[in-house]
Amino acid sequence: GEMERRRLHNTIQELKASYNGNIRVFCRVRPLVDGGLSKHIQLPTNDIKTITLAKTEESHTGKTADTQKNYNFSFDRVFGPAASQQEVFEEISLLVQSALDGYNVCCFAYGQTGSGKTYTMEGDEFDVTRGVIPRAVQQIFRAAEKLATQGWEFTFTASFVEIYNETLRDLLYTGKASKRPEHEIRKSANNEVTITNLTYEKVSNEDQVLGLIALANQNRSTAQTAQNDRSSRSHSVFQLDIEGVNAGRDVKCKSTLCLVDLAGSERMLKSQSQGERFKEMTAINGSLSNLGIVISALANKESYVPYRNSKLTYLLQGCLGGNSKTLMFVNIAPESDSFGETLNSLRFASKVNDCVIGTASANRK
Ligand code: ADP
Ligand code: MG
Repeated sequence: GEMERRRLHNTIQELKASYNGNIRVFCRVRPLVDGGLSKHIQLPTNDIKTITLAKTEESHTGKTADTQKNYNFSFDRVFGPAASQQEVFEEISLLVQSALDGYNVCCFAYGQTGSGKTYTMEGDEFDVTRGVIPRAVQQIFRAAEKLATQGWEFTFTASFVEIYNETLRDLLYTGKASKRPEHEIRKSANNEVTITNLTYEKVSNEDQVLGLIALANQNRSTAQTAQNDRSSRSHSVFQLDIEGVNAGRDVKCKSTLCLVDLAGSERMLKSQSQGERFKEMTAINGSLSNLGIVISALANKESYVPYRNSKLTYLLQGCLGGNSKTLMFVNIAPESDSFGETLNSLRFASKVNDCVIGTASANRK
């Protein structure tokens, strides 16, 4: 029927736009703080899919010339430092749209602290620099209004959680700090994931969601003052559950839009990571690498997908896999002292892109 037709139309559009099935990887380079040009990052003007990191090895003897080593990567799309939030969103709006057609959609921002993940996902307070979350929400509500004229009725439910050291925290909690409940991830018989004691807020317009984002930020900064720089060491997961009914045509659809600002991917020096820091580092490295393993297991259609190896993938189990569409941003910082981290991030992302991260069976316990 109508749903099938719309689905088919979107699928064809996306096949045209992408060669990489249900997983896409976009790279985004943050501008230098002083606005100058990065020396080691090269973005060809005639190719919007490649990025090169150039490393110059100085000759110490003076007898030989300096050598240059190039690391080339290609992704579904590479955004340079001049790309606006609007330009970036245009490339993913089709993906967001498919959440209303019954597809689960997951979008992640991966990269070291300071590389632009939060800017990409949330943006800042100005209208033109709004990020993916507010733009996606705006698009969804506008599209739902249009579909309402064709008999569709939608229900939207928002939730916002933080995962810190493999522990969940409700970012929409408004009660007393001393009464903050603990949370567990539960999977129902029909494979739906819910979190116990979590705030699930019914929303029906953009402003309500913006209010929830503000509340989440407030909740995050309270935890932040108690623990310096905590937000860079936790994942934050915004979910919008969408249910649509068209009584006249007797059709229903159900999906989740999931937008994730991941913990900083930087490796800490062993000497810096003792006690609490060591626990954090282990939790972050574990969940980020497991995310890569899960995505590649899904892409390779492996029979076993190790969702349960981390809270992040367990929580996202319902919206990764199956008919879902996944997009990963790899955010990179242009400063030359970030060269090593940038190379690590691009390597991780290109493995996700090629779906060759380990194998699910190798990780089986
Ligand atoms: P992360 O969340 O990865 O730690 P942020 O998103 O906080 O990094 O970005 C670090 C700083 O750089 C912030 O001040 C942010 O506003 C700025 N920034 C990041 N990306 C961009 C961009 N594309 N354009 C302009 N400023 C940016
Ligand atoms: Mg951030």
